This record gives sequence, C-alpha cells and structure tokens, in this order.
Amino acid sequence: MDTTGIEYIVKKVMAEIDCVEEKGWPVKDGEYGVFNDMNNAIDAAYIAQKTYMRQTMAFRSKIIAAMRAEMLKKENMEVICQMAVEETGMGNYEHKLIKHELAATKTPGVEDLVAEAFTGDDGLTLMEQSPFGVIGSVSPSTNPSETVISNGIGMLAGGNTVVFAPHPSAKKTSALTVKLLNKAIIAAGGPENLIVTTANPTIDSANVMFTSDKITMLCATGGPGVVKQVLMSGKKAIGAGAGNPPALVDETADIEKAAKDIIDGCCFDNNLPCIAEKEVVVVEQVADYLIFNMKKNGAYELKDAAKIKELEDLVIPEGRLSRDYVGRDAKTILKGIGIEADPSVRVIIMETSCNHIFAVEELMMPILPVVRVKNIAEGIELAVCLENGNRHTAVMHSTNINNLTEMAKRVQTTIFVKNGPSYAGIGVGGEGYTTFTIAGPTGEGLTSAKTFTRKRRCVLVGGFTIK
Ligand code: NAD
Repeated sequence: MDTTGIEYIVKKVMAEIDCVEEKGWPVKDGEYGVFNDMNNAIDAAYIAQKTYMRQTMAFRSKIIAAMRAEMLKKENMEVICQMAVEETGMGNYEHKLIKHELAATKTPGVEDLVAEAFTGDDGLTLMEQSPFGVIGSVSPSTNPSETVISNGIGMLAGGNTVVFAPHPSAKKTSALTVKLLNKAIIAAGGPENLIVTTANPTIDSANVMFTSDKITMLCATGGPGVVKQVLMSGKKAIGAGAGNPPALVDETADIEKAAKDIIDGCCFDNNLPCIAEKEVVVVEQVADYLIFNMKKNGAYELKDAAKIKELEDLVIPEGRLSRDYVGRDAKTILKGIGIEADPSVRVIIMETSCNHIFAVEELMMPILPVVRVKNIAEGIELAVCLENGNRHTAVMHSTNINNLTEMAKRVQTTIFVKNGPSYAGIGVGGEGYTTFTIAGPTGEGLTSAKTFTRKRRCVLVGGFTIK
C-alpha cells in the first residue's frame, strides 16, 4: 500500500472510533471485543473463558496461528503502526513495524506450557500449567499494538481470556488491534470475546478492572504508578515497570562497534522502549574515542552548557517530563532549542555529571548523557546506581569476562545485553523469544504463556508407573 492509502485508512478508522465518544459505537456495542463499558467487557471475557478453557490445545494453537497471521498482513501492519505514531505523536513508523512483527512472530505460544511428571511406587503426579481465568492487562502508550499482540498471544496460549485497559492516548490503535485479532479468531472458528477492551479507557475504567471479582490476575505494563496500583489490588499481579538502562563501556571494548550499537539501540523507536539505552557510562581512557565514533554514527554532541540547560528546560519544564518531546526524534528536539540538524542525526549526546537529571530520569527520547569514570570499578558502581534498582535492563560493552561477570552480578537486571544494542535483549538480532512485558519488580522476568498460568498438581495414587 502506498503512503496515501495508509493515511486514508488510518483517518477512516480513527474517525470511526471517534464516533464512539460522540454518538455511541457505530455498529454494535461489543462488536469484535470493543465495548463502551468496562463491566460489559469483563462479563463478556468471563463468559468466553468458560467455553475457551474446555477447548483442546490444538484449538488454542489454531487460534494463535490465526492471530499471528492477521497481525502479519502487510496492510494491517502498515495501518496499525502508522496509527500508533499519529495517535500518540510518538515513535518511528519503520521501527514500529519491526516491533509489531517481532510481537507477532516471536511471542511463544502453547509450546511454552511444559508439564512435569513424578512417578514411583506411590503412583503418578502431574504438574501442569493451568489458566488463571480472566486477566486484566494494562498496556502502555509506548508499545500499544505490540503489548496487545504479545500479551494477547501469551495469555490466550495459557487458556485465559484477557481484558485490556490501554493508555487513553493509544486507545484507537489498541481498539483496532483488539478488533482485528477478534476477527481473525472468529474466522478461525473461535468464540467471541477472548480479547476485549473498552473504546474509551480511563483511570476509572482501569480501576473497575482492578476491583472486579471476575478478574483473577492483573498485569501492569507501564510506569511505577500503575505497577503500584496493581500490587495494591489484593489479586495476583505482575508488575512490568519503568527502566533506565545504562550502557557501560570499558577500555577492552570494541569501541567502534560499541558506539554504533549504542546509537542504534538508543534511537530505536525514538527511545520509547523501556529497554533502550538511556545513559552511557564510559571509562575515561576510551571516552573521547567512543564519543568520536558515536558522532560518526549519527550522534549530535551538545557542548555548550547554556544549550544543555536550554534542552533541560525544554524537555523537563518545572521538573516534569514534557509529553511534547517524549518519543520525538532528535531533529525535532534540537529544533526546540533553535538548532537545525542534519536528517542523519539520530541521537543527541552531551557529557554530564553522574547526577544530572538526564542521567537519572527515564526520558524516553533520544537524548543520551555520557558520564566519564576513572575505571571499571567506578563504572559498575555508577551504572548500578543509575539503573535505580528497577531490575530491568543493562547493556555492557567489554571483552573482559571478569568485568562482564561482575557487572551482571551487581546490576541484577532482568535483561543484560553484552556487546550488542539493547534490542538484542528482546530478540532483535539476539537469540531467544520476545515479550513486551518485562516484569522486573515482581520477578517473572520476560513474561510468556507460562507466566500467565498457575502451576497445579494432579496426583494419581498407586498406579500408572511403568518403571
Ligand atoms: P504510564 O505509566 O503513563 O501508563 C501505562 C498504563 O498504565 C496506561 O494504560 C495508563 O492508562 C495506566 N495507568 C497509569 N497510571 C494509572 C493508575 N494510577 N491507575 C490505573 N491505570 C494507570 O506509562 P506509558 O507512558 O504509557 O509507558 C511508558 C512507561 O512504561 C515507562 O516507564 C516504561 O519504562 C514503562 N514500560 C515498561 C515495560 C516493561 O515491560 N517493563 C514495557 C513498556 C513500557
């Protein structure tokens, strides 16, 4: 499809969803899983789960295959990703296509549910992964379609149904994704309402979900506020919270490669991903050469202290992150401080102190402070401190195994990427499956179908052992 075609469809779908607020849902409330009222959405997912949990594993696999195929249709990918950029005003279309495709292809399905067995004189005991029931999943503005796809696949593979509470600023993209997934499920012979959402999500509607008796598990993918809310709910809750990933570089690293990897990772989707490099800590001996190579790879270095202050006032006015600049590209941000940069500029770098707000705060924009340290011991100390106990992601460039091991032990992050861009940690150019819900605070780590299940034991006494 050409750009005009994509733009036309995006406008049409956005206008259709706008009707929900103005005139009521244009066709039928609840069509393809999109409801006007949260209680109705929960009820529908609750009823659907009762049927779904009795279906075979082959049936679940069939449904998941249909979901993947629908999301991988070129026209769907283009429209959803374009809509995500337009609706949220954040991110990079080409990179969103990569993330969207990743979610559809590399999220594990039913194969993730592996049973354990114990056999002996006393018989057979089976440990199996059983559904929770209806899961309430809060999704962020930064990965709207990806979270719905990836959590949707994982939660359905686990035998659950799911109610999404998306970020209000990504409601149309999220509703469209839910709608298309339901269309695909129904076309594959599945029941209605395995995945539902509300057309006009609010904090209040999320709270209805947090307190509903019909929801047995909550999963929050977002900042610290929502993670705290779900943990206070009294239900089983998964918290996938904020990150502030440091990229640590020592004197043994391949500096040219490190510089390129750091810039590639930092500018991915305009730095929206929670795993993206948010600050660099570099050993003094190689700092100048690293900066030189970062500039060769699309970094614009701000040296003037007054300009750095101006940038700080622009993106963090009165100490609060400006939503006008989150997820914007480097060129647009530089324009805000009167600098016309070349289109090849991908990241804005500057040397700062270790406690500068750019290093300490999760900015989610391609602004990358560089902090020098005397040696690796000081570097590890600082990187651990800047990661801020999020237990999320850290990156390190080094060829010294002892240094890499020491950092891995100290930082305790869920993802630790060595000698690559941060996105290798979610399966882009790195081995392993993907997820868009990385649960550091509650410890599930890179979530997948088995995370969304309960371990249950079935005991048959005195039989079925053939040893
Ligand atoms: P956000 O915290 O503003 O919103 C996330 C979701 O939580 C939204 O659906 C929002 O409506 C909801 N929400 C927020 N406060 C709430 C409250 N008090 N009650 C009920 N619901 C509430 O985050 P965002 O800007 O959409 O996303 C970016 C943040 O999410 C960053 O901090 C990023 O690191 C984090 N994130 C983490 C992961 C992960 O896997 N760990 C993945 C993506 C994003």
